[in-house]
Amino acid sequence: MPNSYPNYINGEWHAPASTFENRNPANTDEIIGLFAQGTAQDVGDAADAAHEAFPGWAAMTAPARGNLLYKVADLLDRRFDQLGEEMTREEGKTLPEAKGEVRRAINIFRYFAGEGSRMPGMVVPSERDRVHMFALRKPVGVVGLVTPWNFPIAIPAWKLAPALICGNTAILKPASASPLCAWRIVEACHQAGIPKGVVNFVAGSGGALGRALMEAQPLKAISFTGSCAVGNWLHAEASRRRLRIQLEMGGKNPTIVLADCDFQAAVENVVNGAFFSTGQKCTATSRAIVEDAIYDRFVAALAERTRKLKVGNGLEPGIDIGPAIDAAQLETDLRYIEIGRKEAGEPLTGGFRLTGGVHDKGYFVAPTIFANVTENMTIAQEEIFGPVLAVLRARDFDDAMRIANAVPFGLSASIQTSNVSRVFDYVQRAEAGLLTVNLPSAGVEYQLPFGGTKDSSFGPKEQGQAALEFYSDWKTVYLKY
Ligand code: NAP
Repeated sequence: MPNSYPNYINGEWHAPASTFENRNPANTDEIIGLFAQGTAQDVGDAADAAHEAFPGWAAMTAPARGNLLYKVADLLDRRFDQLGEEMTREEGKTLPEAKGEVRRAINIFRYFAGEGSRMPGMVVPSERDRVHMFALRKPVGVVGLVTPWNFPIAIPAWKLAPALICGNTAILKPASASPLCAWRIVEACHQAGIPKGVVNFVAGSGGALGRALMEAQPLKAISFTGSCAVGNWLHAEASRRRLRIQLEMGGKNPTIVLADCDFQAAVENVVNGAFFSTGQKCTATSRAIVEDAIYDRFVAALAERTRKLKVGNGLEPGIDIGPAIDAAQLETDLRYIEIGRKEAGEPLTGGFRLTGGVHDKGYFVAPTIFANVTENMTIAQEEIFGPVLAVLRARDFDDAMRIANAVPFGLSASIQTSNVSRVFDYVQRAEAGLLTVNLPSAGVEYQLPFGGTKDSSFGPKEQGQAALEFYSDWKTVYLKY
């Protein structure tokens, strides 16, 4: 019998009326667990519980809240190996990638626990005699946190930890394709002794629960990571109620490769950015824009390196790439590959679903490279969110910059070059929120602001000190003494 994972509302685990299955995308015979199918009533109850818990939690000193977050981090750390394996089984990414993500989630809890002792305010000199002026942070209230399946522990951590340290209470709605990692965080919050009602967890269908969340009267803010379609709908609903909102959505991230780059490192960085985690990172490289002078040689090296990647069950040693998350994403990958064939001809490598042996049990796609893509093609414009790379030719740096910016998205961007002046030009001109230089376009840390621009994002940034801006409000005080 698979394990059952109930919802968590007002400090209690709720036996569900119905459940849904969480299956391993690398081996669909394996059921990871049965999760509660949350209802609108559950969301309403969670919002009421969070509302009731809010005054007590907000009144606790921030360092005391920080001590509880340190305990959450310690509890997660004790289960480090287990959490990594569970993530590989539910999301499909390789075990080293999964463990790296678990480590990041633990570090995020420790980072924001420390924020409890800092919680920076402002003190400035007044123009008036004997007036003391300062501003301090206060929590926003009940916040809704809606997370995607591709970073199933890091994203819930980077929303929940700053929300809690600022004194907010929360309702966490995880992605249905990978709810176990988020459930483990909530379990750790329970075990750490975070008071009842402060953290609530409601799993289930995004459509139904999303509507209930937007109608929950105690809700004051919503932080969402996922697709543009859902984000835009949430934005419209939130505007009606004047809810504070933060959206992190899709991307079509470029890596510019200039002729003066470290050639071999650039090949590795593009392969890593495009294909690791099966291309299912919001910051993944989906367009390589290569300077004409090295285009043919670079494309050949890229294809040769990509053919060596091993695709399979991420629990096995030596595997580079796991499966697509589910049948729908597999279908999306294959549909875009067919579009790519019509637009740019046969791919240089890949271009099909992998079958036979272990591949028959999961949703595996061969990493795919289309060369000779031009900027207006569908595969150069739309997010695929799979292991499909479009390679475009640029005359020179200026042409590469123009192509890089010619999409509606603006999440991450990368450049491979040894020319420092070009680097600074790129930093000024790239229309993206996250820039890398001589690194893959994906692979961020938690200590600096995270988020995009253009259609990729809306609202204050996540992570680092910037996270405090979304999860707190300023109270300004003028004091005559
Ligand atoms: P998604 O379909 O938009 O789902 C994201 C979350 O929203 C899930 O928890 C989903 O629940 C929920 N949801 C669905 N419909 C909803 C509604 N009407 N109201 C409220 N919530 C609703 O996205 P995804 O497929 O999980 O994730 C892939 C997308 O996320 C890609 O576009 C990727 O670029 C983006 N992403 C962006 C970032 C970033 O930081 N910019 C990071 C990671 C991923 P169910 O699972 O139950 O449907």
